[in-house]
Amino acid sequence: MDAVTFASAPNPSPANSSSSSALSSRVHRFSVCDPRRRRRRPLPALRSQRQSASHHDVVIVGAGIVGLSIARHLLLHTPLSVAVADAAVPCSGATGAGQGYLWMSHRTPGSDTWELAVRSKKLWEELAAEVDNLGGGGARERLGWMRTGSLLVGRTSDEMATLEERTKILSQAGIQAECLFAASLHELEPELYVGHDGGAMFLPGDCQIDAFQAVSLIEKTNGSYSSKGRYMELYNDPAVSLVRSEITGTVEAVQTSKHTLYGRKAIVVASGAWTRSLLHSFLEPNHRLDIPVMPRKGHLLVLEKFDKLKLNHGLMELGYVGHQAAKSNSIPLTSESNEYEHGASSISMTATLNTKGHLILGSSREYKGFSREVDKSILKCIWDRAGEFFPSLKNVHLDINENTEIRVGHRPYMPDGKPVIGFVPDLPNVLIATGHEGSGLALALGTAEMVTDMIIGNPGKVDFSPFSIKDRFSGMEYLDSITKNDAIGLAA
Ligand SMILES: Cc1cc2nc3c(=O)[nH]c(=O)nc-3n(C[C@H](O)[C@H](O)[C@H](O)COP(=O)(O)OP(=O)(O)OC[C@H]3O[C@@H](n4cnc5c(N)ncnc54)[C@H](O)[C@@H]3O)c2cc1C
Repeated sequence: MDAVTFASAPNPSPANSSSSSALSSRVHRFSVCDPRRRRRRPLPALRSQRQSASHHDVVIVGAGIVGLSIARHLLLHTPLSVAVADAAVPCSGATGAGQGYLWMSHRTPGSDTWELAVRSKKLWEELAAEVDNLGGGGARERLGWMRTGSLLVGRTSDEMATLEERTKILSQAGIQAECLFAASLHELEPELYVGHDGGAMFLPGDCQIDAFQAVSLIEKTNGSYSSKGRYMELYNDPAVSLVRSEITGTVEAVQTSKHTLYGRKAIVVASGAWTRSLLHSFLEPNHRLDIPVMPRKGHLLVLEKFDKLKLNHGLMELGYVGHQAAKSNSIPLTSESNEYEHGASSISMTATLNTKGHLILGSSREYKGFSREVDKSILKCIWDRAGEFFPSLKNVHLDINENTEIRVGHRPYMPDGKPVIGFVPDLPNVLIATGHEGSGLALALGTAEMVTDMIIGNPGKVDFSPFSIKDRFSGMEYLDSITKNDAIGLAA
């Protein structure tokens, strides 16, 4: 029986926030919910509503995984002071929707993002080891950390040829990788069905985190600097403009709805998919900078304490690799020939089990502007797709109102498939860090290190140049006006 009940669900409950576009990316929870996830810790001493102006070395706009990780790295590795402002609260953007895999299986050695991914993974491993050394529940409890290994799954002989080639390339790049055909794969993951011709590439070193736990850990580290006068966070306080010095004309502060935050050394815009619209409102109308980052909507289906499927590893179908790439080329639900114009959707199977025993199934990709609507037909496609790989799910009656959590978020998508990390050419102290699409959790710590190196003038462990803004966006004429309207939030 393939019975899925998509009965109407209660309205999603927005967090306590002013009406803001950031709300549109909030995680929708429909049932049992861990209240600790939403609890905010007390405001730090510096966070006074009466205060109208404050001075810092670095001001960061956006408290997603990228903005908060940058703050953390600056606080831990430099003497600089930092302020972070967010239109809503941490995890209200794409971060709160993230599945949490930090995998190398879908990355390509030699590509522009490869070194950043390798470095970032190493930094996550170091963070997990540090947390483990603190004792208690260690990284598993505080970060949702698990080294499950990943399986990139193929079902045809063509896909297996691709996986064999990928295994070779990743092994040559120093990643432990093994190509498994159906029989040996069955021993590793008995409930996975790949047919006679299928198999998977196995990366035993791949890991996963829980985005909420990771953010909470990072916030705790950052918050410990507030009593030293080095950290301030302002939530539910959107940035509205940049303030220029009347004398030099350079940007010297961020104006939020309630405060003026002066940034002596740098202002970092890390506002995910909202970065384009924010820059539009920040910059003078005649300013030529247009970072074409777009919201790429994604749904995840989380089945809480799910005991009807035993999963030993994190899984992703091979189609995901093309699906995540700059221009999607896999499993479209509608014609992909003009994907942007039609707001086309695509689904690739991803499946992980987290430390709490929740099965997380993904994921979809759509261009729907900043719409936060839960689309039950997309959830059904995600469920059906998972059933193709795990036949036992076809016997499960799923009611999305029962012990499920629906996550919806807007990945910051860049048409050229790589993040934007660098100074704005003619605004010398303004930096952008966005465009990580489906890899923002994985790449956050490497991005944070890179931004820190840029601010303090260090050469950097990873080459900055693939991510810089200069001369990058002139050839992106395929972004037509509809797409632009989506990206700056004019669409529904
Ligand atoms: C369904 C789904 C699954 C995913 N799974 C994974 C995964 O497994 N692994 C992985 O690595 N990545 C994954 N990602 C991608 C990852 O979640 C994103 O790349 C990452 O969260 C982006 O982080 P960010 O900090 O740039 O943006 P966000 O988390 O969106 O944060 C941007 C912040 O800016 C704030 N903001 C907006 N406007 C303003 C303003 N005017 N003033 C102040 N603040 C403002 C917002 O409120 C928000 O908090 C997934 C994404 C989705 C949607």
